[in-house]
Amino acid sequence: VGALACQRDSYLQTLRTTVLRCTPKPAAEAAAAASAAGPTKQLYEVELEDTVLFPEGGGQPADTGTIRAVAGSAAEAPPVRVLDVQRRELRAVHVVDGPLAEQAEVEVALDWRRRLDHMQQHTGQHLLSAVLDGLQLPTLSWSMGAPASYVEVPRRLSDAEVAAVGQAVNDEILRNTAVSVATPGGEPEGEKGALRVVSIGELDTNACCGTHLSSVGQVKAVALLGQTKGKGGASRLGFVAGDRVHQYAGQLHEVVRRVAGTLSSSVDELDDRAAALVKQCKRLQHREKALRRELAALK
Ligand SMILES: [Zn+2]
Repeated sequence: VGALACQRDSYLQTLRTTVLRCTPKPAAEAAAAASAAGPTKQLYEVELEDTVLFPEGGGQPADTGTIRAVAGSAAEAPPVRVLDVQRRELRAVHVVDGPLAEQAEVEVALDWRRRLDHMQQHTGQHLLSAVLDGLQLPTLSWSMGAPASYVEVPRRLSDAEVAAVGQAVNDEILRNTAVSVATPGGEPEGEKGALRVVSIGELDTNACCGTHLSSVGQVKAVALLGQTKGKGGASRLGFVAGDRVHQYAGQLHEVVRRVAGTLSSSVDELDDRAAALVKQCKRLQHREKALRRELAALK
């Protein structure tokens, strides 16, 4: 890990390579990964000479995809699905739902839509962290989640700071600075992985094993989604990036529209309408209590 095909070129979607090892996955371990393949299916662990499927690490989830044989009678068989990719020392172990012959020539294909989404979130995170660095707010940790991810910083930001950070990040996206990856220590040797340094122009440099967009413009947009409490006084700043911004905005709008319908309100008046209903509900509860007391006194 450090010089896999997916790390050398994060836009590579297919690769011809050779199966080095294929072993049945132990049943106990398989149980955890089985949900995607069905509960009874035997899973296999496959190592390839090289791969375009990123093994989970550095906050970025594993890729999914397919592997199919390209020569011999096995070439007629349907491709096996790759459900997970994990690191084992420097090797990438693919968890697949069918066996592959060792030494077979195969084509690995990446679920590109899913990976592009991960790249948009990950490059978006580097950009957000770089802007927060400028406010002396170093990133303590980050996590890619669904639908939103977060960056954890040492203190809570004011509303004005959140607005300013959101604007600064989106201004940087418009600048479309190139993202580059350097391996200052050269190719990995023996047990040591390659050190990878990901840079956004002059703005940011970060040691990172992940797959990144080649320019910041491809992040498209970052939307900040409020803060939750982290450890100690730390704060987790939620965000979505890339195509998730318009998808999430659409989903949220749909929820708001439905709630407005339930409350017989327009979207614009929803806030006032909800507050008025809560007030009315409290008034009714008070009255009910008073009436019950009166009733008890009559008995
Ligand atoms: Zn990173």
